[in-house]
Amino acid sequence: MIASVRTSLVFLSAFLMASVASTQVPGRSDTPKKPHEVQLAGASRDFNFSTAFGGLRIRWQVASSDYFGREPYYVVKESWEQAARSLSRRQFPAALRSSSFDWNLVFMDEAATARTYPFGAQDCHPAWIRPPADIFVSAFYIGTACRHGLLPEQEARNRLKGTLYHEFGHAIEYQLLGDAVKQAERYHSEGFAEWFEVQALSDHGLNQYASTIKQGARKSFVETWDPKRFTGSNEDYYRAYALIESIVKKRGLSGLLRVYTLIQRQGIPFDQAVSKELGWTTGQWMREAAQLSRQF
Ligand SMILES: [Zn+2]
Repeated sequence: MIASVRTSLVFLSAFLMASVASTQVPGRSDTPKKPHEVQLAGASRDFNFSTAFGGLRIRWQVASSDYFGREPYYVVKESWEQAARSLSRRQFPAALRSSSFDWNLVFMDEAATARTYPFGAQDCHPAWIRPPADIFVSAFYIGTACRHGLLPEQEARNRLKGTLYHEFGHAIEYQLLGDAVKQAERYHSEGFAEWFEVQALSDHGLNQYASTIKQGARKSFVETWDPKRFTGSNEDYYRAYALIESIVKKRGLSGLLRVYTLIQRQGIPFDQAVSKELGWTTGQWMREAAQLSRQF
């Protein structure tokens, strides 16, 4: 999934595969397991602060500030505050809204990205998470739109926010899955992360970025799609978003949360929980999502 159209926008905003279990992160034996293990060359900063969701430690190379026009710390802090508002204005369980994570973030330049990157050279993920809350961000991939040249600083900051919302969404889904996390499949984890990203972007007034995901779903969703064969293409991210949105559209967020509760209590896969909650076969679910996508 090298740079394609989406590289420009969501590519950066979305991602990453590592959604649910750390074992899902394609690994190299020398890949640091924790953000604080990543070696940062040159001048770097290390900072801790409190958020509505627990403490957050962030490390960044001073040079990575060049991409965003300001230190990444400010963008992270603003994004976490916005994510908290997005959660609180929706009917997420109180326990979740008051969860305390132990966030650990690192921002990497080109060299550190190359040393740390757990994906193939053909990929260009701007960030990835090792649940519950370890987040690796490639300032280089975001700031250069995946090697396509330096972005304007404001654009780079907006794309960084989308990326952070997406990873935040992964952390939330991880909590929703609870002990059933081993049941997780990539399509719904990426779908939920994309869905949360769209909510937070919209809440934040960054509608054009949210629209990119929706328009991507409108153009790419076909009801013959098999989510179990999620490949990680840009289009699959868009389609996965539409799957989650179709549930919320039909039953509200409470319906989506009941799907996760079923997964937790019964240890069943996501699609079976959808069938129990909404009465949809997989085919019906795809038709619902296709119909909804045409309205985006
Ligand atoms: Zn992701």
